[in-house]
Amino acid sequence: MKIPFTHLDKLYIDGSWQAGSGTEDVLNPATEEVIGHAPVGNTVTARAAIAAARQAFDQGTWSALSMAERAGYMRRMHAALVARREQIASLIIAEVGCSQNVTYGMQVDMPLAHVLTAIDQSLHTESRQIPIATAPNPMDPGGPMILGSGSIEREPVGVVAGITGYNFPFLLNLAKVFPALLAGNTLVLKPSPFTPYAALLFGEIAEEIGLPRGVLNIVTGGAEVGTLLSSHPDVDMVSFTGSEVVGASIMSQAAASLKRVHLELGGKSALIVRPDADIQAAVMGAVGGLTVNAGQGCALLTRFLVHNSIREQFVQFAQAIVGQLKVGNPADPGVLMGPLIRESQRAKVEQFIASGLEQGATLVCGGGRPAGLDKGYFVELTLFDNVRNDMTIAQEEIFGPVGVVIGFDTDDEAIAIANDSRYGLNSGIVSADAATAYQMAKRIRAGSVYINGGGGTMPYAPIGGYKRSGIGREFGPDWLKEFAEEKSIVYPIGR
Ligand code: NAD
Repeated sequence: MKIPFTHLDKLYIDGSWQAGSGTEDVLNPATEEVIGHAPVGNTVTARAAIAAARQAFDQGTWSALSMAERAGYMRRMHAALVARREQIASLIIAEVGCSQNVTYGMQVDMPLAHVLTAIDQSLHTESRQIPIATAPNPMDPGGPMILGSGSIEREPVGVVAGITGYNFPFLLNLAKVFPALLAGNTLVLKPSPFTPYAALLFGEIAEEIGLPRGVLNIVTGGAEVGTLLSSHPDVDMVSFTGSEVVGASIMSQAAASLKRVHLELGGKSALIVRPDADIQAAVMGAVGGLTVNAGQGCALLTRFLVHNSIREQFVQFAQAIVGQLKVGNPADPGVLMGPLIRESQRAKVEQFIASGLEQGATLVCGGGRPAGLDKGYFVELTLFDNVRNDMTIAQEEIFGPVGVVIGFDTDDEAIAIANDSRYGLNSGIVSADAATAYQMAKRIRAGSVYINGGGGTMPYAPIGGYKRSGIGREFGPDWLKEFAEEKSIVYPIGR
């Protein structure tokens, strides 16, 4: 099968395609086949990209456009992406190894719908009036008072570096390109070395819609390029989506030049299953969640806190359905779960599984590699019971299809366990008592809580992390604020 976008063999810098420092094989993780030879950037190409973005920003033509004019470009970009929906999905299936249902729904259609909402919202956030106020004149306290007003202007931060991970590459790149550019910034985008094409495709679109040169630049490469982008004095802001460890490095790399840092990091999110829950629905949600991109999702609920009165039933039902799930190459539309991204990721996941066994958790199912899949980085969907929250498998982000079941006896205990994590990205509660679930949701230290599976795709809901899951929010009504400065312009009125 011909994989789309693998013809892209150069980096997109300053509105033109420029050679990288070499090429790197990109693998299909389901087959281990090479799908293309992607251009690799280094610090030289990254410097050129920063210079192009800096010049484009300092010229001021992009930031001087009205929000409506920039929104016009971004609508054209959106339409061009929608026109390539099938190709983008085929790329993600091959580059990430993600199953088709998740690829179309969560990797492509949902983010495209969300950015359309963001474009619409952007038109209402440009400038706001400050309420009129009266105050004594400090220079003439006995004289007439001052009648004052003003406005709050949103202006771009400047040159933004967007650095992204591999697991939802189109979504993560989209979530840098759209808000950064809508807000008037210029951008250097650096994707994961595992998924370069999902970023380079934006260069093709930028060309097609006539985006002014230097406004969007795309460089590939690894940590060396990321380090340069997050420490270079000409970069004003880093927006990063990736692991907690790299997020912490980026903060320190950015410190010397005092950049704004926006971080979307990892999680170890809890699903609380109360004793009145519909057990089958809870299990379907829990196990179904583990299959999403083979557990490689930042916000997936992987710590199942199950009331002890129903825990046995929960585990038995989970065990019964796991065998029904089709694991394999996502080129097959019937496959529900594909592979992990690379051998290195599989080795990490297998180490975590071994640590669960060593620390005394009970293996309910999985734990090995699926039979009959000799090629590709597959692991079985794995569930542990009798897990204590201080075990490694309950504390660390495994980033594979591994769930842990932890028992509890009271709502207070469930909340305490949910909050006993250094992460705080997402969470869920399953209960027949919606009001109690809502009260509990307010006590969970996480950026989102899904009660009984949530309320649809919710394009107006911001996402982001508490604690070590990140700083800042993506999507939602204040998304563009992350990428903007606010300026107060105040003046006397009435004279
Ligand atoms: P990663 O942190 O290993 O890599 C992310 C990016 O950082 C890559 O482009 C990489 O090349 C770059 N990088 C590596 N070292 C760097 C350095 N020192 N300075 C600058 N850049 C550097 O993450 P990953 O394995 O690609 O992605 C998985 C992680 O991302 C998981 O932890 C997951 O939870 C997280 N994630 C979070 C969200 C969210 O919205 N919160 C979304 C998706 C993924």
